[in-house]
Amino acid sequence: MSRNASRPDVDFADRFPRELAGELLAIAREGGADFSEVYAEYTVQTAFALDEGRLKRSSVAVLEGVGVRANAGAQTGYACADGFLPADLREAARVAGHIARDGGAGRVAPFHVTDSPAPFTLSFPAPLALDEAAKIAMLRRADEAARSADRRVREVEITHADSTRRFVVANSDGRWAEDRQYLSRFSVAALALEGDNRQQGFAAAGGCVEAGYFESERTPETVAREAAQSAITLLAAREPEAGSTPVVVAPGWGGVMVHECFGHSMEGDGIRKRTSIRADQRGRQVAAKGVTIVDSGVVPFSRGSFRVDDEGTPAQRTVLVEDGILIGYMWDLLNARIMRERPTGNGRRSSYRDYPLCRMTNTYIESGPHTPEDLVADVKRGLFCKHLGGGSVNPADGNFSFVVTEAWQIEDGRLTHPVRNATLTGNGNDAMLKIDAVANDLKIDGTTGSCGKNGQWKPCGVGQPTVRFSEITVGGTAT
Ligand SMILES: [Zn+2]
Repeated sequence: MSRNASRPDVDFADRFPRELAGELLAIAREGGADFSEVYAEYTVQTAFALDEGRLKRSSVAVLEGVGVRANAGAQTGYACADGFLPADLREAARVAGHIARDGGAGRVAPFHVTDSPAPFTLSFPAPLALDEAAKIAMLRRADEAARSADRRVREVEITHADSTRRFVVANSDGRWAEDRQYLSRFSVAALALEGDNRQQGFAAAGGCVEAGYFESERTPETVAREAAQSAITLLAAREPEAGSTPVVVAPGWGGVMVHECFGHSMEGDGIRKRTSIRADQRGRQVAAKGVTIVDSGVVPFSRGSFRVDDEGTPAQRTVLVEDGILIGYMWDLLNARIMRERPTGNGRRSSYRDYPLCRMTNTYIESGPHTPEDLVADVKRGLFCKHLGGGSVNPADGNFSFVVTEAWQIEDGRLTHPVRNATLTGNGNDAMLKIDAVANDLKIDGTTGSCGKNGQWKPCGVGQPTVRFSEITVGGTAT
Protein backbone atom coordinates (compact mmCIF):
# COMPACT_ATOMS: atom_id res chain seq x y z
CA MET A 1 0.00 0.00 0.00
CA SER A 2 1.34 3.41 -0.81
CA ARG A 3 0.19 6.91 -0.24
CA ASN A 4 -1.06 8.56 -3.39
CA ALA A 5 1.31 11.47 -3.80
CA SER A 6 -0.61 12.91 -6.73
CA ARG A 7 -3.67 13.52 -4.56
CA PRO A 8 -2.73 15.32 -1.36
CA ASP A 9 -5.36 16.06 1.27
CA VAL A 10 -5.76 19.71 0.26
CA ASP A 11 -6.32 22.66 2.48
CA PHE A 12 -7.95 25.39 0.42
CA ALA A 13 -8.18 28.01 3.18
CA ASP A 14 -5.79 30.25 1.17
CA ARG A 15 -8.13 30.19 -1.79
CA PHE A 16 -11.20 30.99 0.26
CA PRO A 17 -10.20 33.49 2.97
CA ARG A 18 -12.68 34.68 5.60
CA GLU A 19 -12.65 38.26 4.29
CA LEU A 20 -13.87 37.04 0.89
CA ALA A 21 -16.57 34.89 2.53
CA GLY A 22 -17.76 37.91 4.55
CA GLU A 23 -17.87 40.09 1.44
CA LEU A 24 -19.94 37.49 -0.49
CA LEU A 25 -22.41 37.14 2.38
CA ALA A 26 -22.91 40.90 2.42
CA ILE A 27 -23.38 41.11 -1.37
CA ALA A 28 -25.97 38.30 -1.21
CA ARG A 29 -27.95 40.31 1.36
CA GLU A 30 -27.82 43.60 -0.55
CA GLY A 31 -31.24 42.92 -2.11
CA GLY A 32 -32.76 42.46 1.35
CA ALA A 33 -32.42 38.72 1.94
CA ASP A 34 -32.75 37.90 5.62
CA PHE A 35 -30.14 35.16 5.49
CA SER A 36 -27.13 34.40 3.31
CA GLU A 37 -24.68 31.51 3.19
CA VAL A 38 -21.54 30.54 1.27
CA TYR A 39 -20.35 26.98 0.78
CA ALA A 40 -16.88 26.32 -0.65
CA GLU A 41 -15.93 22.79 -1.61
CA TYR A 42 -12.98 20.80 -2.93
CA THR A 43 -13.74 17.17 -3.74
CA VAL A 44 -11.83 14.40 -5.48
CA GLN A 45 -13.75 11.34 -6.63
CA THR A 46 -12.30 8.19 -8.17
CA ALA A 47 -14.12 5.21 -9.66
CA PHE A 48 -12.88 1.94 -11.13
CA ALA A 49 -14.96 -0.87 -12.57
CA LEU A 50 -13.94 -4.34 -13.68
CA ASP A 51 -16.39 -6.19 -15.92
CA GLU A 52 -15.69 -9.62 -17.35
CA GLY A 53 -12.11 -9.37 -16.16
CA ARG A 54 -11.51 -6.12 -18.05
CA LEU A 55 -11.08 -2.65 -16.66
CA LYS A 56 -14.25 -0.99 -17.95
CA ARG A 57 -14.04 2.33 -16.17
CA SER A 58 -11.31 4.36 -14.58
CA SER A 59 -12.09 7.92 -13.64
CA VAL A 60 -10.83 10.70 -11.44
CA ALA A 61 -12.90 13.85 -11.06
CA VAL A 62 -12.09 17.04 -9.19
CA LEU A 63 -14.99 19.23 -8.14
CA GLU A 64 -14.22 22.67 -6.79
CA GLY A 65 -16.25 25.80 -6.38
CA VAL A 66 -18.51 27.89 -4.24
CA GLY A 67 -22.29 28.09 -3.89
CA VAL A 68 -24.06 31.17 -2.52
CA ARG A 69 -27.54 31.06 -1.04
CA ALA A 70 -29.84 33.92 -0.10
CA ASN A 71 -33.14 33.38 1.68
CA ALA A 72 -36.01 35.81 2.01
CA GLY A 73 -38.65 34.05 4.09
CA ALA A 74 -39.19 30.69 2.43
CA GLN A 75 -37.77 31.88 -0.91
CA THR A 76 -34.31 30.71 -1.92
CA GLY A 77 -31.93 32.31 -4.37
CA TYR A 78 -28.97 30.13 -5.28
CA ALA A 79 -26.01 30.58 -7.59
CA CYS A 80 -22.63 28.92 -7.84
CA ALA A 81 -19.30 29.32 -9.55
CA ASP A 82 -16.71 26.69 -10.44
CA GLY A 83 -13.32 27.41 -8.92
CA PHE A 84 -12.45 30.22 -6.50
CA LEU A 85 -11.98 33.30 -8.68
CA PRO A 86 -13.21 36.25 -6.54
CA ALA A 87 -14.84 38.01 -9.52
CA ASP A 88 -16.89 34.89 -10.35
CA LEU A 89 -17.88 34.45 -6.72
CA ARG A 90 -19.04 38.09 -6.39
CA GLU A 91 -21.19 37.61 -9.49
CA ALA A 92 -22.71 34.42 -8.00
CA ALA A 93 -23.46 36.30 -4.75
CA ARG A 94 -25.22 39.09 -6.68
CA VAL A 95 -27.33 36.60 -8.64
CA ALA A 96 -28.31 34.66 -5.51
CA GLY A 97 -29.22 37.92 -3.74
CA HIS A 98 -31.68 38.95 -6.47
CA ILE A 99 -34.28 36.64 -4.94
CA ALA A 100 -35.11 39.27 -2.35
CA ARG A 101 -35.67 42.75 -3.74
CA ASP A 102 -37.40 44.53 -0.90
CA GLY A 103 -35.96 45.93 2.27
CA GLY A 104 -32.52 47.20 3.08
CA ALA A 105 -29.18 45.48 3.25
CA GLY A 106 -28.83 43.09 6.17
CA ARG A 107 -26.00 42.90 8.61
CA VAL A 108 -23.47 40.07 8.49
CA ALA A 109 -22.41 38.93 11.94
CA PRO A 110 -18.72 38.36 12.71
CA PHE A 111 -17.67 34.73 12.31
CA HIS A 112 -17.30 32.38 15.20
CA VAL A 113 -16.10 28.88 14.48
CA THR A 114 -18.45 25.97 15.16
CA ASP A 115 -16.19 23.73 17.17
CA SER A 116 -18.12 20.50 17.50
CA PRO A 117 -16.43 17.25 18.48
CA ALA A 118 -15.92 14.73 15.67
CA PRO A 119 -18.15 11.66 16.18
CA PHE A 120 -15.12 9.53 15.25
CA THR A 121 -11.77 10.19 13.62
CA LEU A 122 -9.90 8.35 10.93
CA SER A 123 -6.14 8.31 11.33
CA PHE A 124 -5.48 7.26 7.72
CA PRO A 125 -8.67 7.23 5.64
CA ALA A 126 -8.93 4.62 2.90
CA PRO A 127 -9.31 7.13 0.01
CA LEU A 128 -5.94 8.66 0.86
CA ALA A 129 -4.24 5.30 1.28
CA LEU A 130 -4.67 3.52 -2.01
CA ASP A 131 -3.22 4.47 -5.36
CA GLU A 132 -4.83 3.46 -8.64
CA ALA A 133 -2.76 0.29 -9.03
CA ALA A 134 -3.76 -0.91 -5.54
CA LYS A 135 -7.45 -0.34 -6.29
CA ILE A 136 -7.25 -2.26 -9.56
CA ALA A 137 -5.44 -5.07 -7.74
CA MET A 138 -8.38 -5.25 -5.29
CA LEU A 139 -10.80 -5.56 -8.22
CA ARG A 140 -8.78 -8.43 -9.69
CA ARG A 141 -8.58 -10.25 -6.35
CA ALA A 142 -12.37 -10.08 -6.01
CA ASP A 143 -12.86 -11.25 -9.60
CA GLU A 144 -10.66 -14.28 -8.99
CA ALA A 145 -12.34 -15.11 -5.64
CA ALA A 146 -15.88 -14.88 -7.06
CA ARG A 147 -15.05 -17.10 -10.04
CA SER A 148 -13.23 -19.72 -7.98
CA ALA A 149 -16.06 -19.87 -5.40
CA ASP A 150 -18.16 -22.02 -7.73
CA ARG A 151 -17.84 -23.05 -11.37
CA ARG A 152 -21.40 -21.82 -12.00
CA VAL A 153 -20.32 -18.22 -11.41
CA ARG A 154 -19.88 -16.91 -14.96
CA GLU A 155 -20.06 -13.13 -14.93
CA VAL A 156 -18.58 -10.83 -12.32
CA GLU A 157 -18.73 -7.07 -12.12
CA ILE A 158 -16.79 -5.19 -9.47
CA THR A 159 -16.59 -1.51 -8.65
CA HIS A 160 -14.48 0.57 -6.33
CA ALA A 161 -15.33 4.21 -5.76
CA ASP A 162 -14.12 6.72 -3.22
CA SER A 163 -14.17 10.41 -2.49
CA THR A 164 -12.48 12.95 -0.27
CA ARG A 165 -14.51 16.04 0.34
CA ARG A 166 -13.36 19.17 2.11
CA PHE A 167 -15.71 22.11 2.66
CA VAL A 168 -16.15 25.38 4.46
CA VAL A 169 -19.60 26.80 5.14
CA ALA A 170 -20.24 30.28 6.51
CA ASN A 171 -23.43 32.27 6.96
CA SER A 172 -24.73 35.72 7.81
CA ASP A 173 -25.51 34.62 11.39
CA GLY A 174 -21.75 34.37 11.94
CA ARG A 175 -21.34 30.64 11.54
CA TRP A 176 -18.02 29.30 10.23
CA ALA A 177 -17.65 25.52 10.05
CA GLU A 178 -15.41 23.09 8.19
CA ASP A 179 -15.40 19.36 7.62
CA ARG A 180 -13.51 16.65 5.76
CA GLN A 181 -15.44 13.59 4.68
CA TYR A 182 -13.94 10.38 3.27
CA LEU A 183 -16.03 7.68 1.64
CA SER A 184 -15.12 4.33 0.11
CA ARG A 185 -17.33 1.77 -1.53
CA PHE A 186 -16.47 -1.65 -2.91
CA SER A 187 -19.12 -3.87 -4.49
CA VAL A 188 -19.36 -7.17 -6.31
CA ALA A 189 -22.19 -8.47 -8.50
CA ALA A 190 -21.86 -12.14 -9.45
CA LEU A 191 -24.04 -13.92 -11.99
CA ALA A 192 -24.47 -17.69 -11.65
CA LEU A 193 -25.74 -19.84 -14.53
CA GLU A 194 -27.24 -23.34 -14.50
CA GLY A 195 -28.99 -24.32 -17.71
CA ASP A 196 -31.21 -21.34 -18.46
CA ASN A 197 -31.49 -20.40 -14.79
CA ARG A 198 -29.58 -17.11 -14.26
CA GLN A 199 -29.30 -15.60 -10.79
CA GLN A 200 -27.39 -12.60 -9.53
CA GLY A 201 -25.86 -12.10 -6.09
CA PHE A 202 -24.60 -8.81 -4.71
CA ALA A 203 -22.39 -7.82 -1.79
CA ALA A 204 -20.65 -4.62 -0.75
CA ALA A 205 -18.32 -3.07 1.78
CA GLY A 206 -17.16 0.41 2.70
CA GLY A 207 -18.20 3.55 4.57
CA CYS A 208 -15.99 6.16 6.24
CA VAL A 209 -13.23 3.64 6.80
CA GLU A 210 -9.54 3.38 7.60
CA ALA A 211 -6.82 2.25 5.24
CA GLY A 212 -6.68 -1.22 6.80
CA TYR A 213 -10.42 -1.90 6.48
CA PHE A 214 -10.25 -3.70 3.13
CA GLU A 215 -7.34 -5.82 4.35
CA SER A 216 -8.80 -6.89 7.68
CA GLU A 217 -12.52 -6.32 8.24
CA ARG A 218 -13.94 -6.81 4.75
CA THR A 219 -11.43 -8.09 2.21
CA PRO A 220 -12.18 -8.18 -1.54
CA GLU A 221 -12.28 -11.99 -1.26
CA THR A 222 -14.90 -11.91 1.53
CA VAL A 223 -17.17 -9.58 -0.41
CA ALA A 224 -16.73 -11.60 -3.62
CA ARG A 225 -17.54 -14.90 -1.91
CA GLU A 226 -20.69 -13.42 -0.34
CA ALA A 227 -21.91 -12.25 -3.75
CA ALA A 228 -21.11 -15.62 -5.34
CA GLN A 229 -22.77 -17.53 -2.48
CA SER A 230 -25.93 -15.46 -2.78
CA ALA A 231 -26.14 -16.14 -6.55
CA ILE A 232 -25.60 -19.89 -5.99
CA THR A 233 -28.25 -20.00 -3.24
CA LEU A 234 -30.74 -18.35 -5.59
CA LEU A 235 -30.19 -21.03 -8.26
CA ALA A 236 -31.87 -23.50 -5.89
CA ALA A 237 -34.56 -21.06 -4.70
CA ARG A 238 -38.29 -21.43 -5.24
CA GLU A 239 -40.85 -18.79 -6.16
CA PRO A 240 -42.66 -17.25 -3.17
CA GLU A 241 -46.06 -18.29 -1.85
CA ALA A 242 -48.31 -15.32 -2.58
CA GLY A 243 -50.53 -13.89 0.12
CA SER A 244 -50.55 -12.04 3.39
CA THR A 245 -48.05 -13.57 5.79
CA PRO A 246 -45.78 -12.83 8.78
CA VAL A 247 -42.51 -11.35 7.53
CA VAL A 248 -39.20 -11.29 9.41
CA VAL A 249 -36.57 -8.90 8.01
CA ALA A 250 -32.85 -9.50 8.69
CA PRO A 251 -30.78 -6.80 10.45
CA GLY A 252 -28.82 -4.09 8.63
CA TRP A 253 -29.84 -3.15 5.10
CA GLY A 254 -33.48 -4.11 5.84
CA GLY A 255 -33.65 -0.69 7.48
CA VAL A 256 -34.14 0.65 3.95
CA MET A 257 -37.84 0.00 4.64
CA VAL A 258 -37.92 2.43 7.56
CA HIS A 259 -35.91 4.95 5.49
CA GLU A 260 -38.37 4.81 2.59
CA CYS A 261 -41.65 4.13 4.40
CA PHE A 262 -41.11 6.46 7.32
CA GLY A 263 -37.96 8.59 7.21
CA HIS A 264 -38.86 10.68 4.15
CA SER A 265 -42.19 11.65 5.71
CA MET A 266 -40.29 13.05 8.74
CA GLU A 267 -38.14 15.56 6.80
CA GLY A 268 -38.75 19.17 7.82
CA ASP A 269 -39.62 20.51 4.35
CA GLY A 270 -42.60 18.17 4.01
CA ILE A 271 -43.65 18.99 7.59
CA ARG A 272 -43.49 22.76 6.98
CA LYS A 273 -45.29 22.60 3.62
CA ARG A 274 -47.73 20.08 5.10
CA THR A 275 -47.22 17.72 2.17
CA SER A 276 -46.37 14.96 4.67
CA ILE A 277 -49.10 13.04 6.48
CA ARG A 278 -46.85 13.23 9.57
CA ALA A 279 -47.23 17.03 9.89
CA ASP A 280 -50.00 16.69 12.49
CA GLN A 281 -48.86 13.51 14.16
CA ARG A 282 -46.51 14.73 16.89
CA GLY A 283 -47.47 12.97 20.13
CA ARG A 284 -49.42 10.31 18.30
CA GLN A 285 -48.77 6.61 17.96
CA VAL A 286 -47.30 6.02 14.50
CA ALA A 287 -45.50 2.71 15.08
CA ALA A 288 -46.11 -0.30 17.26
CA LYS A 289 -45.24 -0.06 20.96
CA GLY A 290 -41.64 -1.04 21.52
CA VAL A 291 -40.47 0.60 18.27
CA THR A 292 -37.96 3.45 18.60
CA ILE A 293 -36.68 5.14 15.42
CA VAL A 294 -33.63 7.36 15.30
CA ASP A 295 -31.79 9.50 12.74
CA SER A 296 -28.16 9.89 13.79
CA GLY A 297 -25.27 11.57 11.99
CA VAL A 298 -22.79 10.29 14.59
CA VAL A 299 -22.73 6.55 13.84
CA PRO A 300 -19.04 5.56 13.73
CA PHE A 301 -17.62 4.80 10.27
CA SER A 302 -20.97 5.05 8.44
CA ARG A 303 -21.27 6.93 5.15
CA GLY A 304 -24.21 8.87 6.54
CA SER A 305 -22.06 10.39 9.33
CA PHE A 306 -20.15 13.67 9.56
CA ARG A 307 -18.89 16.28 12.01
CA VAL A 308 -21.10 19.10 10.69
CA ASP A 309 -23.83 18.97 8.06
CA ASP A 310 -23.62 20.99 4.82
CA GLU A 311 -24.97 24.06 6.63
CA GLY A 312 -22.43 23.78 9.47
CA THR A 313 -24.82 22.38 12.10
CA PRO A 314 -23.11 19.73 14.28
CA ALA A 315 -24.24 16.16 13.63
CA GLN A 316 -26.50 14.76 16.32
CA ARG A 317 -28.70 11.85 17.30
CA THR A 318 -32.39 12.71 16.87
CA VAL A 319 -35.10 10.46 18.24
CA LEU A 320 -38.04 10.53 15.82
CA VAL A 321 -40.22 7.86 17.40
CA GLU A 322 -39.98 6.68 21.00
CA ASP A 323 -41.83 3.52 21.97
CA GLY A 324 -44.19 4.00 19.01
CA ILE A 325 -44.93 7.70 19.66
CA LEU A 326 -43.81 10.40 17.18
CA ILE A 327 -41.73 12.87 19.21
CA GLY A 328 -39.61 14.87 16.75
CA TYR A 329 -38.81 15.69 13.14
CA MET A 330 -35.61 16.33 11.15
CA TRP A 331 -34.73 19.97 10.42
CA ASP A 332 -32.40 21.93 8.18
CA LEU A 333 -31.79 25.67 8.83
CA LEU A 334 -34.44 27.13 6.52
CA ASN A 335 -37.34 24.95 7.62
CA ALA A 336 -36.31 25.09 11.29
CA ARG A 337 -36.22 28.90 11.20
CA ILE A 338 -39.67 29.22 9.64
CA MET A 339 -41.17 26.61 11.97
CA ARG A 340 -39.32 27.91 15.07
CA GLU A 341 -37.68 24.53 15.64
CA ARG A 342 -34.10 23.71 16.55
CA PRO A 343 -31.95 22.53 13.57
CA THR A 344 -31.02 18.85 13.91
CA GLY A 345 -28.04 18.62 11.55
CA ASN A 346 -30.04 17.38 8.55
CA GLY A 347 -29.19 20.13 6.03
CA ARG A 348 -27.37 18.32 3.20
CA ARG A 349 -26.45 18.96 -0.44
CA SER A 350 -24.83 16.94 -3.23
CA SER A 351 -22.21 19.59 -3.92
CA TYR A 352 -21.61 23.34 -4.06
CA ARG A 353 -23.81 23.36 -7.16
CA ASP A 354 -26.90 22.50 -5.11
CA TYR A 355 -28.73 24.25 -2.30
CA PRO A 356 -29.21 22.25 0.90
CA LEU A 357 -32.31 20.16 1.50
CA CYS A 358 -33.59 18.47 4.63
CA ARG A 359 -32.15 14.94 4.39
CA MET A 360 -31.69 11.83 6.50
CA THR A 361 -28.24 10.76 7.76
CA ASN A 362 -28.29 7.24 9.27
CA THR A 363 -31.87 6.20 9.99
CA TYR A 364 -32.58 3.08 11.99
CA ILE A 365 -34.82 1.17 14.39
CA GLU A 366 -33.23 0.72 17.82
CA SER A 367 -32.70 -2.73 19.34
CA GLY A 368 -35.55 -4.36 21.24
CA PRO A 369 -35.71 -7.10 23.88
CA HIS A 370 -35.95 -10.32 21.83
CA THR A 371 -33.35 -12.64 20.34
CA PRO A 372 -33.41 -12.93 16.53
CA GLU A 373 -34.06 -16.67 16.88
CA ASP A 374 -37.26 -15.98 18.87
CA LEU A 375 -38.68 -13.91 16.02
CA VAL A 376 -38.46 -16.85 13.61
CA ALA A 377 -39.28 -19.56 16.16
CA ASP A 378 -42.78 -18.16 16.81
CA VAL A 379 -43.78 -18.14 13.11
CA LYS A 380 -45.74 -21.11 11.81
CA ARG A 381 -45.58 -20.08 8.17
CA GLY A 382 -43.97 -16.89 6.85
CA LEU A 383 -41.09 -15.29 4.99
CA PHE A 384 -37.60 -14.43 6.25
CA CYS A 385 -36.11 -11.62 4.12
CA LYS A 386 -32.32 -11.90 4.15
CA HIS A 387 -31.46 -9.33 1.45
CA LEU A 388 -33.79 -6.57 0.36
CA GLY A 389 -33.18 -4.98 -3.01
CA GLY A 390 -34.57 -1.67 -4.13
CA GLY A 391 -37.96 -0.34 -3.28
CA SER A 392 -40.28 2.49 -4.06
CA VAL A 393 -42.84 4.38 -2.06
CA ASN A 394 -45.57 6.64 -3.39
CA PRO A 395 -45.22 9.74 -1.21
CA ALA A 396 -48.87 10.71 -1.80
CA ASP A 397 -50.42 7.65 -0.17
CA GLY A 398 -47.48 5.79 1.43
CA ASN A 399 -47.94 2.63 -0.64
CA PHE A 400 -44.68 0.72 -1.04
CA SER A 401 -43.19 -2.10 -3.04
CA PHE A 402 -39.85 -3.74 -2.20
CA VAL A 403 -38.01 -6.49 -4.03
CA VAL A 404 -36.52 -9.18 -1.79
CA THR A 405 -33.43 -10.48 -3.56
CA GLU A 406 -32.89 -13.37 -1.15
CA ALA A 407 -35.53 -14.77 1.19
CA TRP A 408 -36.18 -18.02 3.05
CA GLN A 409 -39.43 -19.81 3.72
CA ILE A 410 -40.29 -20.13 7.42
CA GLU A 411 -42.14 -23.33 8.33
CA ASP A 412 -42.90 -24.25 11.95
CA GLY A 413 -40.31 -21.81 13.25
CA ARG A 414 -37.47 -22.94 10.98
CA LEU A 415 -35.93 -21.68 7.72
CA THR A 416 -36.59 -24.43 5.18
CA HIS A 417 -35.71 -23.34 1.63
CA PRO A 418 -34.51 -20.23 -0.23
CA VAL A 419 -37.06 -18.05 -2.06
CA ARG A 420 -36.36 -15.70 -4.96
CA ASN A 421 -38.31 -12.97 -6.75
CA ALA A 422 -40.48 -12.09 -3.77
CA THR A 423 -41.96 -8.62 -3.46
CA LEU A 424 -43.38 -6.98 -0.36
CA THR A 425 -46.24 -4.57 -0.94
CA GLY A 426 -48.37 -2.57 1.43
CA ASN A 427 -48.84 0.78 3.04
CA GLY A 428 -45.95 2.29 5.00
CA ASN A 429 -48.16 3.84 7.66
CA ASP A 430 -49.86 0.49 8.30
CA ALA A 431 -46.63 -1.48 8.19
CA MET A 432 -45.03 0.63 10.94
CA LEU A 433 -47.95 -0.31 13.20
CA LYS A 434 -47.64 -3.99 12.31
CA ILE A 435 -44.12 -4.47 13.69
CA ASP A 436 -44.86 -7.00 16.42
CA ALA A 437 -41.36 -7.91 17.62
CA VAL A 438 -37.94 -6.24 17.60
CA ALA A 439 -34.75 -8.20 18.31
CA ASN A 440 -31.58 -7.10 20.12
CA ASP A 441 -29.16 -7.36 17.18
CA LEU A 442 -29.11 -3.80 15.73
CA LYS A 443 -26.84 -3.47 12.72
CA ILE A 444 -26.36 -0.21 10.82
CA ASP A 445 -25.39 -0.60 7.18
CA GLY A 446 -23.30 2.43 6.31
CA THR A 447 -21.51 0.88 3.35
CA THR A 448 -23.34 1.66 0.11
CA GLY A 449 -26.64 3.48 0.49
CA SER A 450 -27.41 6.66 -1.43
CA CYS A 451 -30.69 8.50 -1.21
CA GLY A 452 -32.12 10.60 -4.03
CA LYS A 453 -34.27 13.67 -3.47
CA ASN A 454 -35.06 16.45 -5.97
CA GLY A 455 -32.26 15.13 -8.17
CA GLN A 456 -29.62 15.32 -5.43
CA TRP A 457 -27.90 12.11 -4.25
CA LYS A 458 -26.49 11.85 -0.75
CA PRO A 459 -24.79 8.97 1.07
CA CYS A 460 -26.98 7.56 3.84
CA GLY A 461 -26.85 4.72 6.33
CA VAL A 462 -29.84 2.53 7.16
CA GLY A 463 -30.28 -0.02 9.90
CA GLN A 464 -32.40 -2.14 12.15
CA PRO A 465 -32.19 -5.25 14.27
CA THR A 466 -34.13 -8.33 13.13
CA VAL A 467 -37.73 -7.08 12.93
CA ARG A 468 -40.98 -8.97 12.52
CA PHE A 469 -44.14 -7.66 10.87
CA SER A 470 -47.33 -9.50 11.85
CA GLU A 471 -48.34 -9.48 8.18
CA ILE A 472 -47.25 -8.05 4.85
CA THR A 473 -48.54 -8.94 1.38
CA VAL A 474 -45.99 -11.10 -0.42
CA GLY A 475 -46.08 -11.54 -4.17
CA GLY A 476 -43.83 -12.80 -6.92
CA THR A 477 -42.10 -10.84 -9.66
CA ALA A 478 -42.04 -13.80 -12.08
CA THR A 479 -45.79 -14.02 -12.64
ZN1 LIG B 1 -34.35 8.13 0.42
